[in-house]
Amino acid sequence: MRGKTALVTGATSGIGLAIAKALAEAGVRVMINGFGDEAQIAAAQAEAGGALYHGADMSKPAEIADMMAAAEAQLCGVDILVNNAGIQFVSPVEEFPPEKWDAILAINLSSAFHTTRLAVPGMKAKGWGRIINTASAHSLVASPFKSAYVAAKHGIAGFTKTIALEVATAGVTVNCISPGYVWTPLVEKQIPDTMAARGLTREQVIEDVLLKAQPTRQFVTVDQVAATALFLCSDAAAQITGANISMDGGWTAA
Ligand code: NAD
Repeated sequence: MRGKTALVTGATSGIGLAIAKALAEAGVRVMINGFGDEAQIAAAQAEAGGALYHGADMSKPAEIADMMAAAEAQLCGVDILVNNAGIQFVSPVEEFPPEKWDAILAINLSSAFHTTRLAVPGMKAKGWGRIINTASAHSLVASPFKSAYVAAKHGIAGFTKTIALEVATAGVTVNCISPGYVWTPLVEKQIPDTMAARGLTREQVIEDVLLKAQPTRQFVTVDQVAATALFLCSDAAAQITGANISMDGGWTAA
């Protein structure tokens, strides 16, 4: 992996930060993206081996194009693209704010198109590339009150398969990882809304909604997701492409 470069979106926190860290530890030069205050961003850069940073808002195609140009200039191209930035909003569909729908579709789905279309030419030219999309168990199954998220995650699974076919002979693999519930700020933040939407206590949301879906009754860890992403970058994974890799404690087996 030494000498390779990576861009990880949504890497100032949670799963993205863990993936950026794992790639840096494997010798990859990393650029991270995501929101946060100055201290949080500096800490994430340090954790990811002194990573470069670009603050593009992943809902804004022009800012994404600027980030891709910065990666081209500062990293000499993106060998490994990790489309990970994502947000969640929980509400019955009739009360779902249209601007939240648009934001989730833009950040969780369209942003991957905007990065991928600009990363693919460089990967094809080098004859090597890895695109890893953080999907979700919600790319395979639905839960009520998450209409935008489930639609976006089903979309990214289809996008993954399509691009895998387009670049199959170019030495580029395209896969998505589909975790169940991983204990990150994204999950923590949706607990109050789920409590309100379903009239439950915090403990009931954790036990009866989140962990109820996972037969192992355990949260996935960010390090487990990062290890899978690292494996997908290895030569051993060269024939894994167009796959949707479940890491959900058995959730989607049921
Ligand atoms: P998180 O909230 O810890 O991290 C999300 C990251 O995305 C942060 O760095 C945040 O700054 C960034 N981000 C949000 N909006 C952005 C924007 N407009 N532009 C740029 N960056 C933006 O969440 P996480 O749990 O680590 O989620 C990461 C990915 O994993 C998401 O795509 C999420 O859907 C997916 N996922 C999470 C879980 C889970 O249980 N936590 C399960 C399955 C899939």
